[in-house]
Amino acid sequence: MKILMVASEAAPFAKTGGLGDVISALPRALAARGHDVLVVLPKYALIDEQHALRDTGRRIQVPIAGTDWSAGLFLTAPAERLRYLFLSNEAYDRQGGLYGVNGKDFRDNHKRFALLSVGALLAARQMNFVPDVVHAHDWQAALVPLVLKRGFGGLVSPFRVPSLFTVHNLSFQGLFPKEAMTDLALPADLFHPDALEFYGQLCLLKAGLVFADKLSTVSPSYREESLLDQEHGAGLDGLLRWREKDLHGILNGADATVWNPEIDAHLPARYSAKDLAGKAACKAALQKEVGLHPEMKALLCGTIGRFSAQKGMDLLADAIPRLVERGGQLVVLGTGDAEIEKKLNEQAARFPGRVAIVNRFDDGLAHRIEGGSDLFLMPSRYEPCGLNQLYSLRYGTLPLVHAVGGLKDTIEDAAPHGKQPGAQGFGFRFEGAHADSLIGALDRARALYNDHDAWKATVLRAMALEFPWDAAAGKYEALYKALA
Ligand code: ADP
Repeated sequence: MKILMVASEAAPFAKTGGLGDVISALPRALAARGHDVLVVLPKYALIDEQHALRDTGRRIQVPIAGTDWSAGLFLTAPAERLRYLFLSNEAYDRQGGLYGVNGKDFRDNHKRFALLSVGALLAARQMNFVPDVVHAHDWQAALVPLVLKRGFGGLVSPFRVPSLFTVHNLSFQGLFPKEAMTDLALPADLFHPDALEFYGQLCLLKAGLVFADKLSTVSPSYREESLLDQEHGAGLDGLLRWREKDLHGILNGADATVWNPEIDAHLPARYSAKDLAGKAACKAALQKEVGLHPEMKALLCGTIGRFSAQKGMDLLADAIPRLVERGGQLVVLGTGDAEIEKKLNEQAARFPGRVAIVNRFDDGLAHRIEGGSDLFLMPSRYEPCGLNQLYSLRYGTLPLVHAVGGLKDTIEDAAPHGKQPGAQGFGFRFEGAHADSLIGALDRARALYNDHDAWKATVLRAMALEFPWDAAAGKYEALYKALA
């Protein structure tokens, strides 16, 4: 099939989170299954010479509320049948992050991502790529399904093909003041709770949820949870229940070409299930790198992610004194909410050499935390899929997770209450987003850690698991086929 994919990030070009990993691995897995895939992304300032894009010399004009936005088209083809096409416009060519600067969103994000959504369709036509199906992701590409059905600003969609819309996190909704409707020249009849309105604001995410032919979330449990109530569905539960028969839950995979301790160039030493010596070297090097005491025996806990209530980083901060009291060490890598950062830093200041907080985006260090830690903590309040628990398994770093969403779908407890510890399972789960429950699971993990043979057997079980992207791609393929 010919598949057009539209998203706002893809590793290694531009990544702020899990979406970037997905748009790197899923198109490749689809191409490997014989599909012809074109992915359209913005050409941000950070995408430069090192990514070796080729200027196609082609341009598109996108009419946004009476003004023509012009975008040049840049291309790279990392694998057979797989192409990434980048829209170049000064709106993307900015200092700061992909979506804002100094923690503030760019004010014209609605226009920047209307350019992506409408531009992707026009760009595909420019490249003579007529898709059988269009797959759009998250609010930044959510206008795509609407444009396919209703056109945009007097422009008719270049093709009438079905669409799938995947939402990676229902809390990122693309909310803008009502006036943004005028900025985008969206028809006034769409400003309605059954279409794009969300409590008096424009909600771009709803354009995807309402107009796409099929919808998906990134794990089966998150799909179920999103239908439950307002809190779980981030206020979109009613709409999702209305679309329930079209809503699917497809678990992400883990890309073993990028996240694999046998070949990981970011690690100081490589290792595999056959020879774990390198993992001990990674632990020692990580302790040194982030300033933790060089204690081989200490249970080293790692975590990576946005400093946000969603990720449970505040309850992790609450758990730190008890984690340290029990002889554990902790390294946290992340960026985000200033209050949570302050809370974490206060704890780190109390426990030098036992707690390290690294406040930046650092892909290399993320790999070294996966490689060097014993335990990986994910106390997320909710988790659409989560990828780090999958990477952790591959690195023999046992995940300790709050049993929600994708975490619940992927992690089996190795020390469940009332069962012989270490006989099955490959991680630790807790119920209830509280520091107490986290510490309860940590105590079960410590007991297993103190039994060297049982711990090692559990690590080896974790490392033997696979979450191949090909399996996820097969499920997306079935949805595309049902649509086309
Ligand atoms: P999210 O909800 O943020 O998308 P996921 O668990 O789905 O969370 O994916 C997060 C991805 O982003 C992982 O690959 C993780 O390693 C990476 N990541 C998050 N924060 C950082 C950071 N500060 N430095 C490096 N990588 C990070």
